[in-house]
Order: sequence, then C-alpha cells, then structure tokens
Amino acid sequence: MKRKTKTCPACPEGPRVLPLRSFGIVRSRPDGRNLYCRACVRRRMQEARAAAKLRKRTPPAPRPVTVQPPSGFVFPGHRVDVEPLVLTAIDRFGGACSQDQIVSFAAEHLPAKLHPRELRDTVGNALGELFQARSIATRGEAEGRIYFRRFSVRDI
Ligand SMILES: [Zn+2]
Repeated sequence: MKRKTKTCPACPEGPRVLPLRSFGIVRSRPDGRNLYCRACVRRRMQEARAAAKLRKRTPPAPRPVTVQPPSGFVFPGHRVDVEPLVLTAIDRFGGACSQDQIVSFAAEHLPAKLHPRELRDTVGNALGELFQARSIATRGEAEGRIYFRRFSVRDI
C-alpha cells in the first residue's frame, strides 16, 4: 500500500508527519516527493534569498593594493618622471638646495632603484625641464650651484 504521509525533517518545531500532498513533486526522488514540506521549501528559499541580499549589500573586504609607481614612472633606461620629487626635495631643503641634495632625496624616495649615474641624469633632466617651465631658478654660489623654487606672483 502506498504511504499517505511523510515526515519533514526541517519543520521549525521538529520533524513533522504530514500528508503526502504537503510535499512538492520531485520525480527524481525515490518516493517522487520533495524531502522537505512545501512550507519549509518556501521558508528556506526566503532565507537563502535574504542571505544573498545581505551578502550583496555588505561590501567585500578590500583587497591588498599593489603600490603603483607614480604616473610617468617607467623603468631604468627610460624617462622617469621625477619632477614632482625634485620640487618636493627643494621644499624639504628649505626652498633651495644643491643638485646632490636632490639626487640623494630622489634616491631615497623613488619607488625603484636606479643606477646612480642614471639617477643623476634623470634629476638633471628634470631640473632642466623645471627651469624651462620657470618652476625653479638656479644660481651659482661659492659652494656650488643651488636650485630654488620660483613662485609666480599668482602663487603668492
Ligand atoms: Zn517542513
């Protein structure tokens, strides 16, 4: 004789014996009915949907960020954009400093190591460009050439 009842293992009050029609039809199962009763299937689906919604709302933990070299920075043998660094160096040294001071500052703060000669050339090029752009000025002193920031009237 065919069974007319079935036990749902998921009912909130504990396993419950229910009429077979309380279970949805699942042809792949041996008895042709779902393992859980219709009410439990509905509740579990709502819970799963709510959990998925919550996951969507909670932003994922930030992934570790790979430090990118500053824009314009390319690897040795190519142009390296050290102009911002040169200006920072001059400011750090009180608004005027020698090329050697800028080179040592750049060596310390560039995100990648450059060959010392390459670094010196790069800083020299940056100084030239900044001078042409009238961002810096230079003057020969007894101790050597110094570079200083040049502010336009607008900046002051
Ligand atoms: Zn149930």
